[in-house]
Amino acid sequence: MLTAGQVLQLIRQGSCRTRKELIEFTGLSRSTITDRVDRLIEAGYIHESGVGASGGGRPPSVLDVDPANHLLLVAELGANHATVALTDLAARTIAEEHTEMRIERGPDAVLSWVRQTFHRLLEKTGHGAERVRGIGLNLPGSVDHTSGRMIRSFLMPGWDDHPIRESIRETFDVPIVVENDAKAMALGEWWSSWRQCPSLLLVKVSTGIGAGIVIDGRIYRGIEEAAGSLGHVRLRDTDDRVCTCGSRGCVASLASGFALAEDLGLETSRDVVRLVQAGDPTAVARTQEAGRTLGAVLATAVSLLNPGVLVLGGDMAETREHYLTGIRESVYRRSLPYTTRNLRIVTSTLGDRAGVVGTSVMVMEHVLSPAAVDAALRG
Ligand SMILES: [Zn+2]
Repeated sequence: MLTAGQVLQLIRQGSCRTRKELIEFTGLSRSTITDRVDRLIEAGYIHESGVGASGGGRPPSVLDVDPANHLLLVAELGANHATVALTDLAARTIAEEHTEMRIERGPDAVLSWVRQTFHRLLEKTGHGAERVRGIGLNLPGSVDHTSGRMIRSFLMPGWDDHPIRESIRETFDVPIVVENDAKAMALGEWWSSWRQCPSLLLVKVSTGIGAGIVIDGRIYRGIEEAAGSLGHVRLRDTDDRVCTCGSRGCVASLASGFALAEDLGLETSRDVVRLVQAGDPTAVARTQEAGRTLGAVLATAVSLLNPGVLVLGGDMAETREHYLTGIRESVYRRSLPYTTRNLRIVTSTLGDRAGVVGTSVMVMEHVLSPAAVDAALRG
C-alpha cells in the first residue's frame, strides 16, 4: 500500500499528474488515492492547478508540487565569506545576506552568526520559524553528512570533529543537512543546467581545490566521504612550497587561488580574479599555467569517470576563461580522444549561487523524500 509520501514522489517525478493517472498507475482504489492526495494538499505539499487533457467530460485538474508553502534555510560558509539564504522548496531565494567573514574565527563565532542570520531573514520576510522544513550548510572541508559533523579541513583550524548539526539544532528543531562545498555546488549545477546528464564532475577552485561528482542525479561520496578530495594529490615531490596539508608539491599548493595569490604577492583568490579581470599579463599567464597543472590531475579523473560535463566553479571560474583554457588544454592533451569526445568543459552557470542552490536542492530532496513527508504528516 503506497503512503502519501510515495504518492508525492510519483507526482514529483512526473509519473502521474492527475488522480485518475494515480489510480491507474498504482492500482489503488479511488478512495485511497483521494485520501493520500487530500492529505498532501492540506499539508501544503501539492496544489491543484490548470486542467489536464480530457478524454471527454469534466477535464481533470493537474496535481503539482507547491514550492511556496514550505521554507528552507541554507548557509554557505567559505574560507573568507558567508552567505545565508531563505529559499522555497524549488530552491528559489526569497531573502539573503552575505558577509565577509573568515572561517578561521572558529565554529562558535561563525555558527552563532549563522543562527542569528537565519532568525533575521525570517523576521525580515515576516515568516514564522514553524514554516521552515529543513536546513542545509556547506563548508570547505570534509564532513560526515550522516552525523552532521565536520571531519576535518585544512582551511578551517579549530573545526575538526565539530558537531555542526547539533549546534544549529539548539535553535531549530528540523532536519539539518551538512555537506562539503564542492559536492553541494556539483548538485546545484546538475539540478539547474545538466539534469539530462548522467555524470557530472565539478571542480571548485577558490582558496583551495575540491571536486564534486554527481552520478544519476546523486552526489557520489565514496566510503569515507572523501570522493573529490583531489586538491592534495602530490604532483611534484621536489617542490619547495609547503601545502596547507603539510606536504610538498600538492596540486593545491601549485594551482589553487591561494597559491596564485602567494605567487603574485596578493592576499586572496579574489585579488587574483580582480588582477586577471584587469588584464594583467603576468596574472593571466600564471592563471592559465595553474589551469594546465590542475588539468593534468583532471585528465585522470575524466578517464576514470568519463563524465558528460566538467564544470569549473569557485573564484577561478571568474578569470575570463583563462583558468578554464588551461584546464581544457591539459585534459584534451592528456586523455584518449574517446573519453573526451562528448565531454563539455565549461564554467559554472550559477556562478557564486551554485553552493546556495545546491544546498537548497539537497535539503529539498531530503524534506520531500517519502519517509520525511510521511513522518511530517504523522507528526
Ligand atoms: Zn596538500
